[in-house]
Amino acid sequence: KDSSLVVCFGEMLIDFVPTINGLSLADAPAFKKAPGGAPANVAVGIARLGGSSAFIGKVGEDEFGYMLAEILKENNVNSEGMRFDPGARTALAFVTLRSDGEREFMFYRNPSADMLLQEAELDLDLIRKAKIFHYGSISLITEPCKSAHVAATKAAKDAGVVLSYDPNLRLPLWPSAESAREGILSIWDTADIIKISEEEISFLTKGEDPYDDAVVRKLCHPNHKLLLVTEGAEGCRYYTKEFNGRVKGFKVDAVDTTGAGDAFVAGILSQLAKDLSLLQNEDRLREALKFANACGALTVKERGAIPALPTREAVYDAILH
Ligand code: ADP
Repeated sequence: KDSSLVVCFGEMLIDFVPTINGLSLADAPAFKKAPGGAPANVAVGIARLGGSSAFIGKVGEDEFGYMLAEILKENNVNSEGMRFDPGARTALAFVTLRSDGEREFMFYRNPSADMLLQEAELDLDLIRKAKIFHYGSISLITEPCKSAHVAATKAAKDAGVVLSYDPNLRLPLWPSAESAREGILSIWDTADIIKISEEEISFLTKGEDPYDDAVVRKLCHPNHKLLLVTEGAEGCRYYTKEFNGRVKGFKVDAVDTTGAGDAFVAGILSQLAKDLSLLQNEDRLREALKFANACGALTVKERGAIPALPTREAVYDAILH
């Protein structure tokens, strides 16, 4: 095993971010390209923080796919497991933060290359070498990527790799709300670590109160070692079998919340990859989550996902001192 490697699996795409916030997508005067895709964000986030990470997924053999591969390289993310599809295009997303505070998404997926990753294309040796295997649920939506997802997680689990899951609900991508709920919950119990948002708790429990510990406890399975709930500017909550609590977030001027959750995940996984015993000690876990909150906070100060992910030095200079 590579002692502290985190392998991230799933989509990598280009976000087109409006040059001005607060408008609907149709009214945006211009867009800037920003690399993104939740698992790829986490891989870059970990590398920026000085950790060891790899990305597994597929892009198109086009201008955007090459750009994304280059970004992984520049950021010292291992891209041996990345594949290029000659016949499909790289996924594109248009994302804006409207004046009502909601994010609006529009996707090019017809289908895009990320959804066409096949089981036979997986670098299973890379997955088995990892300390942590991190993934979302978008790769579960359609075949052939769904089978690749299932095979990759199984290889990781069988090799004793810690499984980290961020369901990262993107409702418009699923055929229906019910299929999204079922899809997300179908791989729920096998994860060791799960990160969800308050909205996702409400969605999964069909409207129950995400602030009620009893509601969150119902979502916890005996297999889970840690369940994290992110609460935007408020910070996060954590639940293990032994303890639970809240770690307050940091006050910053928010410009664009894209990627905050991924920066937070990178912040906590980069530390767990080095030392899983953090899960057993509440004080040390709280300290680690404070760092993760700081990673999330710094990310909302800049536009885009990957461009905004902080280095370890930046986290200490700007927030933790
Ligand atoms: P997601 O992107 O998954 O919805 P959140 O928006 O809750 O996740 O953000 C993840 C983490 O980033 C939060 O737990 C918090 O630590 C930090 N964060 C997010 N938004 C802000 C904000 N406006 N101010 C300070 N920290 C923030």
